[in-house]
Amino acid sequence: MSLEPHVLPRSRAAGWIEVICGSMFSGKTEELIRRMKRARFARQRVEIFQPAIDTRYSDDEVVSHDSSSLRSTPVTTASEILLLASDADVVGVDEGQFFGSDLVDVVQELARAGKRVIIAGLDQDFLGKPFDPMPALMSVAEYVTKLHAICVVCGSPANHSQRLVGGGERVLLGATEAYEPRCRECFRPHGADATIPREEQTSHGRP
Ligand code: ZN
Repeated sequence: MSLEPHVLPRSRAAGWIEVICGSMFSGKTEELIRRMKRARFARQRVEIFQPAIDTRYSDDEVVSHDSSSLRSTPVTTASEILLLASDADVVGVDEGQFFGSDLVDVVQELARAGKRVIIAGLDQDFLGKPFDPMPALMSVAEYVTKLHAICVVCGSPANHSQRLVGGGERVLLGATEAYEPRCRECFRPHGADATIPREEQTSHGRP
């Protein structure tokens, strides 16, 4: 099965919006990179942006957990993307959940200008709540791909990012090791009981 929308010939004037969403460790960034590399191979001009807030890795690269990477530009606000993407055919945005709601207007404007826009991001925060502005982006997108990780407790498809350490702040930077993917059954949104006892781990979840 191909996850990627059928890519129309560029002679079509209108652009479109693709959203790649899911939990942490679901391969969102890898999928964004895969689509961008294919476009670049076809000699389309590609530009990738990431929020300057995300300083886990190097400043000017989108780096996924498997180290497959592409050069990207850190930006502080979504409106910077409008200025910097004017020459691009394909615009990628990683970590879309770290932008403000103005990202929705920005990507719509880019699509109206004929560009293919691909946004990857977390669709839920650590409490399992919709993570703005991803829900709004999904609703205006032509194509939405939801990816899943694998629950580390039971092996089912994982839809949630389980936080393993304390703290109520929504954004916990520089700490991918503070999370693990969990399915609905094994997800514990309020971290105190994040650790599931061994004896419970095999009692549910597997088909
Ligand atoms: Zn599970």
